[in-house]
Amino acid sequence: MTPPLPKRTIELRQTNRQAILRFLMLDGPMSRLELSQKTGLSLGTITNVAGPLQEIGMLVETGMEESEGGRPRSILGINPQYGFLVGVDMGEHHVELELFELTLKKLGTVRRPLNVGLISANDYVSAISSGLEELCRVTGISQEKILGMGIGVPGIVEHDGQVSISIPMWNWKSVQFLRDVEDRINLPVYLDNGAKAMALAEFWYGAGRGAQDVVVALIGTGIGAGVITKGSLYRGATNSAGEWGHTKIVMDGKPCRCGSHGCLEAYAGATGILNRMGVENINLTSDQVQIDMIEQLVRDEQQGDEHARYVLRETAHYLGAGVANLVNLFNPERVVVGGWVGMLIGESIMADLKEYVRQYALPPSQSRLEIVSCQFGQDAICTGAACLVIEQYLSANPKFARRLTA
Ligand SMILES: [Zn+2]
Repeated sequence: MTPPLPKRTIELRQTNRQAILRFLMLDGPMSRLELSQKTGLSLGTITNVAGPLQEIGMLVETGMEESEGGRPRSILGINPQYGFLVGVDMGEHHVELELFELTLKKLGTVRRPLNVGLISANDYVSAISSGLEELCRVTGISQEKILGMGIGVPGIVEHDGQVSISIPMWNWKSVQFLRDVEDRINLPVYLDNGAKAMALAEFWYGAGRGAQDVVVALIGTGIGAGVITKGSLYRGATNSAGEWGHTKIVMDGKPCRCGSHGCLEAYAGATGILNRMGVENINLTSDQVQIDMIEQLVRDEQQGDEHARYVLRETAHYLGAGVANLVNLFNPERVVVGGWVGMLIGESIMADLKEYVRQYALPPSQSRLEIVSCQFGQDAICTGAACLVIEQYLSANPKFARRLTA
C-alpha cells in the first residue's frame, strides 16, 4: 500500500495547480514551456500537475505550435465545456441570471422583473431558484454540470465567519441570504457586492486585462474601488475593503450619507456633483433624473458653458486627489475609471484627472501608472459574479475546489 502524501506536498500541489489554472484562465491557451516561464515552475512540475487535470477533462490540448529546431509543442487550454458557471445580478427591479462556459463565454440569459417596493429575502430566493431552472432549460445545460453560482448584491456583504447581507432599500439587515439560496438550489454560491463583481469583470475581461495590480474606481451614486493586487481582489478582514468613497478629502466638510463629513463621495459622487451644480433636494430625485442631469452637464460643457466646465474641472480635482491617494497606497500599474458617472464624464475629465494625479501622487508610485476608461457598464455584473466563482476556486476555497476537481 502506498503511504499517504505528506500534508506539505498536497498543499504545494494545490498551489501549483492554482498557479497553472490562473494563467490558463486569464491569458488563454499556451504551451507547457510558456506556462513554465510564466509560473516559474519547472517543466517537469507543469507536466505532473497538468496530467491529472487532463485526465479528468478539465485541461485539453487545443493545438500545436512550432518550436525552434525541435518537435512542435502542444498547446494546453481550459476545456470550456468541463463545467459551467452562473452569474446573478440582483437588481433593484429585476433579477438577471447568465450561464457561462468555464472560459466565460456566455451561453444564455434569463431576466425577470420583480415586484415594486420592498422585496423579502424569501421572494428573492424563489426568483433566483426559478430563474435558474429556466436558464438550464433554455441553454440545455443540466444543473449537475454547473460548478457554482456567483451573486452580485446591491448592498453590503459581510464575510465574518458567516456571510450576511444588508440592503437598506429593502430593509434587509444582516440577512443570512447565502444559506437560504444554497439550501434551495443545491449549488455552491458566492456572494459579493455588485461593485466588486464589476471590478473583477473589468480586470479579467475589460480595461484591466493583462495587468496584475489594478484599481477599478467606480464612480456612481456612491463611490467605491475594487483593488486587485497580484491578480486577486483585496477584501480586508470582513470584506469591507475598497470603501474609497468614504475617505476624507475635506476636514469638517460636507455631510455624507455614511454619517460622516468631508468624504470623497459627498463631492464627486452623482449627488455631490449635482450639489455643486446647485441642484436642490437631490435625494428626492430618481436615478434616471440624476443620469439625465449629468448627461446635460456633459453636453453643456461640450457647447462651451463656463459653469459646466468649472463643475467638471472641480470634479476632476476631487477625483484626482482621491485617485492619487489610491496610487500612493497601492502602487497600481493601471487605474480603470468606471461606474455610471465615470462612464458619462470620463472623457470630459480624463485630461484634468491625469494632471491632478500627476501632481498629487509620489513619482515612484506612478512610474508605471496608466489611467484608462472602463469597457463595461452595469451589464457586467453577471460576468463579474461568474468571475467571483472562478476567483474563489483559484484561491482554493474548498467549497468550490471540491466541486470543480472532484
Ligand atoms: Zn461617507
